[in-house]
Amino acid sequence: MDHPGRALDPATIAVTSGRPPRTPDGPLNTPIVRASTYHAGGPVGYGRTGNPSWSAFEEALGALEGGTAVAYASGTAAACAALALVPRGATIVAPVHAYLGSQAILNAGVADGSYAEVRRIPTGDTHAMARACEGADLVWVETPANPTLDIADLDAIVAAAHAAHALVVVDATFATPLVLRALDKGADVVVHSATKFLSGHADLLLGAAVAIESTLVDSLLTFRSLRGAVPSPSDTWLALRGLRTLALRVERAQHNAGILAARLHQHPAVSRVRYPGLASHPGHDLAAAQLRGFGAIVSVELAGGRAAADRLCAAVRVWVHTTSLGGVESTLERRRRWPDESVEVPESLVRLSVGIEAVEDLWDDLAQALD
Ligand SMILES: *Cc1c(COP(=O)(O)O)cnc(C)c1O
Repeated sequence: MDHPGRALDPATIAVTSGRPPRTPDGPLNTPIVRASTYHAGGPVGYGRTGNPSWSAFEEALGALEGGTAVAYASGTAAACAALALVPRGATIVAPVHAYLGSQAILNAGVADGSYAEVRRIPTGDTHAMARACEGADLVWVETPANPTLDIADLDAIVAAAHAAHALVVVDATFATPLVLRALDKGADVVVHSATKFLSGHADLLLGAAVAIESTLVDSLLTFRSLRGAVPSPSDTWLALRGLRTLALRVERAQHNAGILAARLHQHPAVSRVRYPGLASHPGHDLAAAQLRGFGAIVSVELAGGRAAADRLCAAVRVWVHTTSLGGVESTLERRRRWPDESVEVPESLVRLSVGIEAVEDLWDDLAQALD
């Protein structure tokens, strides 16, 4: 939907896009279409290749990212689709710290010979990232990264990767398209776990990959239908409903996160706060230059170590002790409780996913739990 003279704000696009045509007595929203098959003669034909409820969600996400979105059964399926864009034997550049599942996919790919090599580089080390792009086929970026909140210099990485003819895939799950539009920065593919902020209510699993180049979009679509990595029409419908309030949720959550990060930074029980919005964060200037806001994920390290981190997670009443992130509710967990988490992540690190509750209630609960 074009506005004369000026592009619509993302907050407006989140509300107006992915709607059926405005026809008298037509519904405002695309209904959940439950169909395994369609009458012959059309381009879709069968439910593994298309569904109107997928398309509505994809249209909205594509409009927010500035590309063509393809929805998948999960963020993990979307990641697999993006990684399948390079042939067997490819060399991949990947972060030292990133979502554990993505790391597991890459490790499995090395083990079974899908990749010749996976070069692990710290996201924040731009020079090392640029050097590693030489001879690579695909560069995987996650920014801000899980759970260390590293910030990538996307402009420099895209330039180095493209000079080496490597594809750049950005997992922008933590950022959302409101904070980072990676395709605008030259990334080839953006991957989302729509399970998190995009749907926003901790009630479904869904993923998406977004690209501009039509050959890439075709490959992403082919992966979905050939591998059957299809989402449920109910889940894309629910995710689109969640997406309508994305701007409100993200604005509120990152506002809360900024306040909490600053207070945690001053708290004697906390030895380190990682939040790109803090001037003490090594990626702060980059984040300020390349992102629109700093997101709603904050990681803290506790002075009392692992035991203190476990006590914090057990003592909260408003916050929820759980994995996952990006919902309306504030959640936290000690990342090293997962045996697969990198040993470079400190034992005492607790990742906070800040929600949309009243910030003073969130602070009071954290403060009593830290005491
Ligand atoms: C959760 C997550 C994924 C995986 O998404 P699923 O929907 O759980 O499969 C990928 N990347 C990041 C950054 C995530 O947080």
